[in-house]
Amino acid sequence: RFITLEGLDGAGKSTHLAFIRRYLEQAGIDTVFTREPGGTPLGEKLREILLDIDTEATLDTETLLMFASRQELVSSLIRPSLAAGRWVVSDRFTDATFAYQGGGRGVPAERIAILEQWVQQGLQPDLTILLDVPLEVSQARLSQSRLPDRFEREREDFHQRVRQMYLARAQANPGRFVVIDARGDIDAIQQQIAAALARLQEA
Ligand code: C5P
Repeated sequence: RFITLEGLDGAGKSTHLAFIRRYLEQAGIDTVFTREPGGTPLGEKLREILLDIDTEATLDTETLLMFASRQELVSSLIRPSLAAGRWVVSDRFTDATFAYQGGGRGVPAERIAILEQWVQQGLQPDLTILLDVPLEVSQARLSQSRLPDRFEREREDFHQRVRQMYLARAQANPGRFVVIDARGDIDAIQQQIAAALARLQEA
């Protein structure tokens, strides 16, 4: 089984990822955890570059680097792990490219879809958990925590478009997505995550 976790920065991905880890451990499911961009030695180098480059000049380059990192991850980690019967949980995947590079920066979705097909050859997550929060919430959480990276310093309308694109992707792929209102009570959120994981176990 292949699970991805998506959402705006500040939606609570790290907190809920820790919950997913505990849940799958307790269920005795052999799981590999990874993240994007990154997840492989080359991917982590590309991540450093991606968090550092001058965005204005390099829009298509940014998208291509995301997919270069993804290619490494898919072929060296995701596919072999799934083939060995393990579960894979990725902190972000291709929906993030549709949301950030597509919705946020305006790369046409058709271009992203071509790269998706090239790199994934039909491989899709079985479950995508989208932690959805209004912008005020994610921004407030971020301002209280770490120093922002270059993506997080983007303007508000950028993040608004990212959120809308995530929601549109969820609406277009209802079988794969579970959208969770990640504003409030942690226990309630984690119950919904647990229910989605339990359904996947039974499937
Ligand atoms: O999820 P994480 O915080 O590790 O992501 C690092 C940064 O890269 C974030 O600011 C995220 O918004 C950004 N990102 C992006 N496009 C992607 C994936 C991540 O802009 N496809």
